[in-house]
Amino acid sequence: MKLKDKKILQTGALIGGKWLSNKSTFNVSNPATGKAIAKVTDAGAKETTAAIQAAEHAFTTWKETTVYARAELLNTWADLIERHADDLAMIMTCENGKPLAESKGEVAGGVQSIRWSAEEGKRTYGATWPHAEAGKRFMTIKQPVGVVAAITPWNFPHSMITRKVAPALAAGCTVVLKPADLTPLSALALGELANRAGIPAGVFNIVPTSDAKTVGEALTSSPIVRKLSFTGSTQVGKLLMHQCANTVKKLTLELGGNAPMVVFDDADLDSALTGLLECKTRNAGQACNSINRLYVHTDVYDAFCSKVVAALTSFKVGNGAKKGVHIGPLINQAGFDKVNELVQDALNKGATALLGAQPHKLGGTFYQPTVLRDVTQAMDIAHNEIFGPVVTLIPFSTEQEAIANANDTPYGLAAYFYTENMSRAWHVAEALEAGMVGINTTRLSRADVPFGGMKESGLGRLGSFYGVEEYLEVKSVAFGV
Ligand code: ADP
Repeated sequence: MKLKDKKILQTGALIGGKWLSNKSTFNVSNPATGKAIAKVTDAGAKETTAAIQAAEHAFTTWKETTVYARAELLNTWADLIERHADDLAMIMTCENGKPLAESKGEVAGGVQSIRWSAEEGKRTYGATWPHAEAGKRFMTIKQPVGVVAAITPWNFPHSMITRKVAPALAAGCTVVLKPADLTPLSALALGELANRAGIPAGVFNIVPTSDAKTVGEALTSSPIVRKLSFTGSTQVGKLLMHQCANTVKKLTLELGGNAPMVVFDDADLDSALTGLLECKTRNAGQACNSINRLYVHTDVYDAFCSKVVAALTSFKVGNGAKKGVHIGPLINQAGFDKVNELVQDALNKGATALLGAQPHKLGGTFYQPTVLRDVTQAMDIAHNEIFGPVVTLIPFSTEQEAIANANDTPYGLAAYFYTENMSRAWHVAEALEAGMVGINTTRLSRADVPFGGMKESGLGRLGSFYGVEEYLEVKSVAFGV
């Protein structure tokens, strides 16, 4: 991996501002080549406890630091991230596989999250209440919840961290982060830059591990940890929710999705195509808000199928570090097998492959961009998060049918639809059971806009002032006067 500043490639655990390495390590591999790129310290319960203690200690002074001083440190961190954007993007592409241009975009989004949180931290106002009772006055103040545990996934190794850590720090909390074992290097590089920015020791701690269960138990059982912010599968989210029940931790959960996109007969098909491709090919389809099911009105179904195939044929698959590549490899063999099994199952049950539907000739975990038509609601592929570059086209006839099918899932993260009919835009947006709805766009993620889901897609929101509120307690104070 060619880096301008090799020192940002850290491989230890960050505890109390110091890099600690132990004998036990795990390999991080490049999904494009299958080769190991680093050996990272394998933290266990002992290191996690030490990190929690460091965070507890740092909290006593961090919570007293002024919001302006905290914002300045966060902005210095953002400056350093911008300065090292090329290296951070290269690290991300090497451990995750996504094209370099996407990695650069993600780093820029991370900077936006940090700067926005730094400013929003200054606006975490309390309130005073109207005179309601003789001899009393009431007010509310907002205070940081305390030590926060953050557990993040491999698909957005940079932005999932900045979106949690920046608002937590801005609010005055301290953090112990457990990054995904597949992509810890982006997290550790962020830790190195946080140290260089002067963020005090213990405010941001990182425990990389191959033993998520042990570290997860240490984090969730600790009474010192007052909050968990988790992004990952619904299955693990439910488990962690149970584990947090004993100590009644606050929770922010961003879990699985099964996002529908509906293309009505009055849609601008070219615009729908652009939105589909942008959303579906990002990170090779490995995103929780990626389009999983595409409902297309029967009157435009054949025309839209042809457009999708023609467009996707020109997408280049390859190593994300190479120029001109649009779609990288899938993260690992398990991810690859899941995609292929869902595709083959759909074909066995009557879907037709218009493109791909097979492993890519590059081998490894590369998968061909795939378009399936005649997919039905009864197929497994309509109910499972595909996490691959696979477009599934399901025809529909009426608006009611499209809405019912779109909502026919325990998930409710994102939903998209295309229509030129203004009144339909309103009532379909209201009818879709999703935390985020895109009307004539599939780009809905920004630092200053809430991100999160309904139903089994999660609790709480990342981003925006809601994302900062997740790290604050509201305390009512009554004065006898
Ligand atoms: P994905 O399918 O995206 O890998 P996971 O939910 O398995 O989703 O992983 C998301 C994050 O949760 C990763 O950091 C992973 O290591 C962590 N994780 C997985 N299992 C556990 C667990 N039992 N306790 C705590 N963290 C876990």
